[in-house]
Amino acid sequence: MSGALYRGRFAPSPTGPLHFGSLVAAVGSYLDARAAGGQWLLRIEDVDTPRNVPGAADEVLDVLRRLGFEWDGEIVWQSQRHGRYRDVLDLLRRQGDVYPCACSRREIADSRLGSSIDGGHVYPGTCRGGLPPGRETRAWRMRVPDASIGFVDRVQGPIGHNLEREVGDFVLLRADGQYAYQLAVVVDDADAGITDVVRGADLLDSTPRQIWLQQRLGFATPRYAHLPVATNAAGEKLSKQTLAPALPAAAGVPLLAAAMRFLGQPVPAEVERWSLHEFWPWAVASWSIETVPRRRGIVPAADAQCLPP
Ligand code: GLU
Repeated sequence: MSGALYRGRFAPSPTGPLHFGSLVAAVGSYLDARAAGGQWLLRIEDVDTPRNVPGAADEVLDVLRRLGFEWDGEIVWQSQRHGRYRDVLDLLRRQGDVYPCACSRREIADSRLGSSIDGGHVYPGTCRGGLPPGRETRAWRMRVPDASIGFVDRVQGPIGHNLEREVGDFVLLRADGQYAYQLAVVVDDADAGITDVVRGADLLDSTPRQIWLQQRLGFATPRYAHLPVATNAAGEKLSKQTLAPALPAAAGVPLLAAAMRFLGQPVPAEVERWSLHEFWPWAVASWSIETVPRRRGIVPAADAQCLPP
């Protein structure tokens, strides 16, 4: 595959310092792109302004730099792209794909339609035919079809959901005025010409929604590879919420080797003594997505705990 045919990316949310879970996504997306002779772009997903932690983005970029990651082109910041998201939402409005919704979380929970695939509630469609009299717009929702939207993931195999029954019409502009992740990620990946999305399997359930948006917007659907997610001993995804420790960037190669082993890549012990300059070309040449374990969510974090002090 030539470089022009592969454009990958890493898209961290600056909600805290880089932890082992996001390092795994960085390493997997980087090696997959470089092994294909492709480009690797960086995007800071700071669209959700209330969750951004001041200074976290710079800290993440600093750790990536010190670990020897090299990205192509300018870094994209979602916080600078609100005008573009507004234009795309307007287009969806003109196409009749989105509608205003007055429902509160409580009203949706009370409708008892059951849990959605990602643990929320399936939207019952209350405002699909228009706002109930006297009610005001809170959010804008994307209409979904009563049809299965599927794809073949390079790691997880065939995946599909019936969007209406398992997810429901989903929010693109939230009640607090923030654009939703689902909209931003689809627009950003398309505008950057991303051909390959390699990310954590915690986002697997979002992918059919994103593919539906791509279809309605006439965007190409990239190839997807969803990597196993690092959890702590309690089986929780490593994140700022679970107080995952910040990574010691000074740990260098042994830290990168731990991320590779987590991704099912054999790493001989002597590699840990190499410099970053020796490590990266070897890692790119030895990358094989075929040996990445096909696991979703629950992965013992033994590797994450074996980090060098
Ligand atoms: N910003 C998301 C995260 O940090 C990743 C989104 C994506 O890769 O599509 O978990």
